[in-house]
Amino acid sequence: MDSPIKNFVARTDLRALVEAHGCALKRSGADWWGLCPFHSENTPSFSIYQKNGRWRFKCFGCGAAGDAFDFVRLIHGCRDNREALACIGSMPVPREQPPPAEKPKKDTGAYALKLWHECRPAHGSPVELYLRKRGIELDLIPYFLRFHPALKHPEGQIFPAMVACIHNHKNEITGIHRTFITPEGYKAPVCKTKLALGSFSGCAIYLYPAGPVLERG
Ligand SMILES: [Zn+2]
Repeated sequence: MDSPIKNFVARTDLRALVEAHGCALKRSGADWWGLCPFHSENTPSFSIYQKNGRWRFKCFGCGAAGDAFDFVRLIHGCRDNREALACIGSMPVPREQPPPAEKPKKDTGAYALKLWHECRPAHGSPVELYLRKRGIELDLIPYFLRFHPALKHPEGQIFPAMVACIHNHKNEITGIHRTFITPEGYKAPVCKTKLALGSFSGCAIYLYPAGPVLERG
């Protein structure tokens, strides 16, 4: 098949093309049906269907079948491909709709940063209770550990959380690590109490200052 023909078939919305030639179509399941434009009939036997990702037509009455190019060739009575291409050149072509653009991924890094800025110092908070229950006494809780009073867990409930920020090599915050806890400083009653959010490539997550415990997320 020549490439202008291939191109035409690839970029043409066959259903719109058929409808533009006066053939009303009705949807039935995944296919479209209408009265055949190539023979006289009272009940629809002309169908438009998708095969291997390409739209094709087929009439179960007269046997006319093919793709968008074949449709033009048949409906305009073209003697050969050259005539059909000339015919295409002189008519408006209903374009195949481009697939919807992929949704931009939610910027989890920005969201993580927002949550980080909502956090409060961990001193005197359930985070301190939580650390103490784990045998960690800190005179000074490091800056990278903070307390968030109400974070939504993916399971739906809202808990206080210990939040650790994650830096990249440029010292920019690219994500956070959340440990969901109770106001009394116990682990929250969820399947996963520890969850990361944001971008972590090449980043180490120190949940505690080096020394007592070092945990890598
Ligand atoms: Zn027919």
